[in-house]
Amino acid sequence: MTAHHGHAAGARVDELRSALPPSRVLVDPARTAAYASDWSGIAAGSPSAVVLAETTHDVVVALRWANHHGVPTTLRGGGSGVSGGAVAYDGGLVVSTARMNRILDLSPVDRIAVVEPGVLIAHLDRAAGAHGLMYAPDPVSKDIATIGGSIATNAGGLRCLAHGVTSEAVSGLEVVLPDGRVLHTGGRTRKSATGYDLTHLFVGSEGSLGVITQATVRLTPLPRGERVTFAATFPSAQAAGAAVAGLLGRGLDLELPELLDHSTLEFVRRHLAGAGPTDGAMPDGAMPDGAMPDGGTVRDGGAMLVGMVIAVDAAAQLVEARAAATDAGAVHFEASQGTGMLDVRARVKEALMAGGLEASCDAAVPPSRLAELLAAIDVIAARDGRVVATVAHAGDGNIHAAVQSRDEPDDAEAVQRVLRDIVRAALALDGVVTGEHGIGAAKVHLVAEQFTPDTLAVQHAIRELLDPRGILNPGRVI
Ligand SMILES: Cc1cc2nc3c(=O)[nH]c(=O)nc-3n(C[C@H](O)[C@H](O)[C@H](O)COP(=O)(O)OP(=O)(O)OC[C@H]3O[C@@H](n4cnc5c(N)ncnc54)[C@H](O)[C@@H]3O)c2cc1C
Repeated sequence: MTAHHGHAAGARVDELRSALPPSRVLVDPARTAAYASDWSGIAAGSPSAVVLAETTHDVVVALRWANHHGVPTTLRGGGSGVSGGAVAYDGGLVVSTARMNRILDLSPVDRIAVVEPGVLIAHLDRAAGAHGLMYAPDPVSKDIATIGGSIATNAGGLRCLAHGVTSEAVSGLEVVLPDGRVLHTGGRTRKSATGYDLTHLFVGSEGSLGVITQATVRLTPLPRGERVTFAATFPSAQAAGAAVAGLLGRGLDLELPELLDHSTLEFVRRHLAGAGPTDGAMPDGAMPDGAMPDGGTVRDGGAMLVGMVIAVDAAAQLVEARAAATDAGAVHFEASQGTGMLDVRARVKEALMAGGLEASCDAAVPPSRLAELLAAIDVIAARDGRVVATVAHAGDGNIHAAVQSRDEPDDAEAVQRVLRDIVRAALALDGVVTGEHGIGAAKVHLVAEQFTPDTLAVQHAIRELLDPRGILNPGRVI
């Protein structure tokens, strides 16, 4: 950057600083760095400013400034995204909505909450719980992810099979557009048939169309009945996938079935619990209530399914769940009243990252085709002679396949090739590129593989309409 440009950039930033209270604008690189990256591992630039918005008006001021000067802008909630949608541009602006973290209203009668975007998902869920309700979307990251960020990625979670993904929980939004206009979409009624559904245009928009500054979200009654958790082990991931189809086909009150393959369990064991047996058995402590005995050992190539039923006739449904697992070739099945069996699932991401498996994909297929996708992943992994660790929100047909890297030149490209082939396999099975993590910066090269040119062109036209200067997440999302 020339001295002249440096001076001009400095003057621009001074303009922003004078328009907002000093505590809401960071410019010192030592402080802005904390807002520059997310969990994707994608290298971040050094932003020229970070606005820690406290009000909708702060966001309006920041966006007008960025729009006027054509500054590439990243929006940021909790920064827990794994697709690089919240990674800062060099010299760009970051607008964080994390400080806008108040629950403004919670109505048990209307079954809605009106919240600012920085409210943490777990916080809202706890507040709803006091009224016998829940905020259903529960990504594993719910303690660090915000409502705004999760709406912007259309996040899924463990109980989304039974209670819906984020898009089903969003009833209305306040959104600031790049030119500073403030939109209000949807509302707090359960029904709405007026005009185009702009609310859901912004769900999953990944910081590319506008800033969500307020959300009206639906709350759901907590499921009633007895809670039973079960774990089943299978000789292959495909067999576990077939069991998922069997479980779903029986119409059970399944809260979740999560699938963990042998490689994943091995990483959890190795990286989170120190040395131990290497046959995929869970170490002591990984299952606090001792839910996984020796008989639950998952052999090489095999997989484990962890499920939960909540129902008044849970015991009877468990008999059916066991039958579905056995029909698909389960070698072990056991039930528990506690939720300890789920703890291992919560630790997977951390374990895979510790094991150097940062690059992953989150394609989704119709659940009936999950077994086929798992078989295809096995073929792709064997072809490349690589470890691919797969976990799945199995009831949603949504896999997370992480590819092990090698210390070799051009390895990053080879890893991307493996991920691309897995996504292509999913697309060939009526699937989608991303089920819940979003496209961000990581998967933008894959979008055109899912959409027809006309569909893609309409998506670009919408973006052009709302962000004509292209300041929001340029080069990403679509
Ligand atoms: C350990 C771990 C487990 C995870 N488990 C799951 C899971 O089970 N399911 C799942 O779906 N995801 C999961 N994720 C991914 C991530 O947590 C989700 O994508 C989450 O929704 C991101 O929320 P955030 O507030 O951290 O958003 P950020 O990471 O800050 O941002 C995500 C995207 O949203 C945009 N954005 C943020 N705030 C706003 C706003 N106010 N207005 C408009 N756009 C905005 C950003 O620009 C970016 O594109 C996991 C991540 C981790 C680290």
